[in-house]
Amino acid sequence: MPFVVAVDGPAGSGKSSVSKEVARRLDFGFLDTGAAYRALAWHAEASGIDTDDAASVVSCLDSFDYRIGTDPTGYSVQVGAVDVTEAIRDPQISAVVSAVARVPEVRRHLIELFRSIMAAVDASGIIVEGRDITTVVAPDAPVRILLTASEAVRMGRRSAELTGSSVEAVGEQLRKRDAADSKVVDFMTAADGVTTVDSTELDFDQTVEAVIGVIRE
Ligand code: C5P
Repeated sequence: MPFVVAVDGPAGSGKSSVSKEVARRLDFGFLDTGAAYRALAWHAEASGIDTDDAASVVSCLDSFDYRIGTDPTGYSVQVGAVDVTEAIRDPQISAVVSAVARVPEVRRHLIELFRSIMAAVDASGIIVEGRDITTVVAPDAPVRILLTASEAVRMGRRSAELTGSSVEAVGEQLRKRDAADSKVVDFMTAADGVTTVDSTELDFDQTVEAVIGVIRE
């Protein structure tokens, strides 16, 4: 198993972009676990499945042919022959992904997949980011970090990414998703042994440096 850095945090905490940059600087692999839940939501919708119906979502796991690269510089997400790297960021997918992610069989299936991707990475280390990495996927990782930021800062950052969306509309969606996701896993408080990095007062580069500082401790 490579050296695993587990990073959890809420929506808009910057964990994807920060983790990707940390991986690039340290020459580590990078795994965005949220992308798999999003890709499954995309697959369910593309298959005409009602994402609120757990049994139907489980039934589409068999045909879920998911591939994700672990190179932080050339990162792409594929379902079957389709490149869904962009499509899974659509607000429609963000709106339905929590319903897919709360299904226990989906979580079991994807957690196995994450562990096999981690074991197969072609690098000395891998940064794995999500909601339950520090607690469930890789609780024994030598470095475990909770990346947080105030709700106002998270909303501001996310609405800056989604051009054309108001802070209010983005904020409402973020709050809804965090509320639904926290019923499944607690990613708002650091579990025992997990180091919190609060990026509220930090810019992107300072956050990257802070995370690298924790890894080098
Ligand atoms: O990280 P991102 O916002 O892309 O994650 C999308 C969704 O995937 C989350 O809202 C959550 O429902 C789910 N997720 C999860 N466990 C993870 C990563 C993501 O349940 N480890």
